[in-house]
Amino acid sequence: MQSSKLKMLSMIVAGVLIASGKSAVSQQESTVKLKDGFDVNTLDRTIDPCSDFYHYACGAWLKQNPVPPDRSIYGRFSELTDRNQAILRDTLEKTSAPDPGRTANEQKIGDYYASCMDESTIEKKGTAALQPELARINGLKGKDDLPTLMAHFSMVGMNAFFGLGVQQDAKDSAQQIAAVYQGGLGLPDRDFYFRDDAKSVEIRKQYLRHAKNMFELFGESPKAAAAHAQIAMRIETALATAALDRVARRDPNKVYHKMDAQELQALSPAFNWSKFLSQIGLAGVPALNVSEPEFVRQVQTLIASSSLDDIKVYLRWRVISTQALFLPKNVDQEVFDFYGKVLAGQQEQQPRWKRCVNSTDNDLGEALGQAYVERAFGAEKKERTLGMVKALEGALEHDITDLPWMTEATKEQALRKLHKITNKIGYPDKWRDYSALQIVRGDALGNSLRSNEFEARRQLNKIGKPVDPSEWLYTPSTVNAYYYPPQNNINFMAGMLQPPFYEQQLDDAVNFGAIGVVIGHELTHGFDDQGRQYDADGNLRDWWAPEDGKAFKERTDCEVQEYNDFRVAGGEHVNGKLTLGENTADNGGLRIAYAALMESLANESPEARKPIDGLTPEQRFFLGYGQIWCTNARPEALRLQVQTNPHSPSEFRVNGVVSNFEEFGKAFGCKAGQTMVRVNACRVW
Ligand SMILES: [Zn+2]
Repeated sequence: MQSSKLKMLSMIVAGVLIASGKSAVSQQESTVKLKDGFDVNTLDRTIDPCSDFYHYACGAWLKQNPVPPDRSIYGRFSELTDRNQAILRDTLEKTSAPDPGRTANEQKIGDYYASCMDESTIEKKGTAALQPELARINGLKGKDDLPTLMAHFSMVGMNAFFGLGVQQDAKDSAQQIAAVYQGGLGLPDRDFYFRDDAKSVEIRKQYLRHAKNMFELFGESPKAAAAHAQIAMRIETALATAALDRVARRDPNKVYHKMDAQELQALSPAFNWSKFLSQIGLAGVPALNVSEPEFVRQVQTLIASSSLDDIKVYLRWRVISTQALFLPKNVDQEVFDFYGKVLAGQQEQQPRWKRCVNSTDNDLGEALGQAYVERAFGAEKKERTLGMVKALEGALEHDITDLPWMTEATKEQALRKLHKITNKIGYPDKWRDYSALQIVRGDALGNSLRSNEFEARRQLNKIGKPVDPSEWLYTPSTVNAYYYPPQNNINFMAGMLQPPFYEQQLDDAVNFGAIGVVIGHELTHGFDDQGRQYDADGNLRDWWAPEDGKAFKERTDCEVQEYNDFRVAGGEHVNGKLTLGENTADNGGLRIAYAALMESLANESPEARKPIDGLTPEQRFFLGYGQIWCTNARPEALRLQVQTNPHSPSEFRVNGVVSNFEEFGKAFGCKAGQTMVRVNACRVW
């Protein structure tokens, strides 16, 4: 979504949810109150679990929880996001009064939130609030001034031409290096500029309309606005021709091109990189990763072949498209109409307080997160989660040891990597220091830009320093978890260790099916088609015997084909290659969580095996899994998801996975020939 900021994060992060959890939230209450967590009343018992397990597990929930008007997707994890958000709101409302007794962090989060909520001040400032940024563009005397301007835009988070970041060197993970990567596109992916089906053509038409409207809202005549929209589209389309698509960018070798500043300069002589780098404090930087060299070449060609006036139009377009939340209502609404309504089918904007909570969390997450952790996360949760992680690691160890298709030498390396995985649970040991960030009451846009710059500086300061593996890539209240290949660690935010993923008072079977599979999913990411290319120390290095690599690929090809066959409403196919890593993680995660549960039950008294609500532990395990994925979505959102998101739609995350797993059929007494008993079942881990 457009309001999300360009953050200088490394790009390879393997999460578990369809989104980072923050983008699709709303306070819209569902009409029927089911329990917050696992609930046998959400089943649809008229459906045979062996024919369609997802609708068996979720049927009643799906009927009772239509997508609210201010969302495009609504699932069980949205309920959790709502609860987390209500907690954050409470903290923010308490700290937003200008009380002199506030701590420094309370002043920052409180004033940030209050400024964001202060619509009348934002309205009064109007589009003039962006004038200083636009004046920089208008003041360009020649193309020689571009590096200075681009340096500034990189720091304040304006997404034009390319992005700048910091990442661990993929082949020398102890080093932090600068990274230049493709950027500057307003549509969600390069393919959106070229697909020729009717819907894609319509989206481009709407995008042009949106650009024209925006130029008009910033004071241009309809005629000039229409012409400028065409120019912006032409430049973005030219950039898109050289951009890598999402499938290609999943391959870590395709986005690794380490070079020095001279080599970067040689790629694109029309842009003075040494001026750019020195402006952001990176003069003399020894190494950069240029993720997509062809893209940088294309930026060069465009700059060389476009008039300065056209470049200014493109830059204006990029600037006015960002920061809508802090601009007048008509701009904010126009941005929503395209990104929310046209692209995702969302009918209404979310209430402002939710968007301001998200923005505060995005910019000051570790200041806001401290209060969240105090209220929603305790030491006992950390302990029990850690116990489950250990059980899951044990199950994966058995799985690797017993694999029939892998040679001993590769197994040894795989186990070495598994044993070196570190676990982070809940929240950071050491909170981020925001003292250098100035938050000014009444200056919503300025707060956002200063936050971007604070974050950019924080990232750039890492270059040449030791890696800090205790750092978190998401904020504590985020409903998500991730595996991070360059650090070989798994991370579970406190925001996710809540119902329905984790329920303290429930039996192990349900918890192993829910949070247990999430843990297994993240562990398996270390060994999916992407993660397996990194070694125990987070280096991109092939540690596989050639025959094992071949056997692995045969197994993942099975998953690619299986998921390619799934279709969403409207007929669009899931992209088996784009979703491969997530699908492997889902399939492996379910298997090892199941094995861990069996191991745990074997060590307990027979009491633990007694059915609850008429369901065996095995059945409750699979239901625990199925139910976390109950999700309703608008057709536009599903289409957007299969085109851009590495996670398969929820229905296939459930049915695709259980139909590959023989233990599922046993648990529900399924017979050969039924849909949930796949003939060509796929298995990697
Ligand atoms: Zn994942």
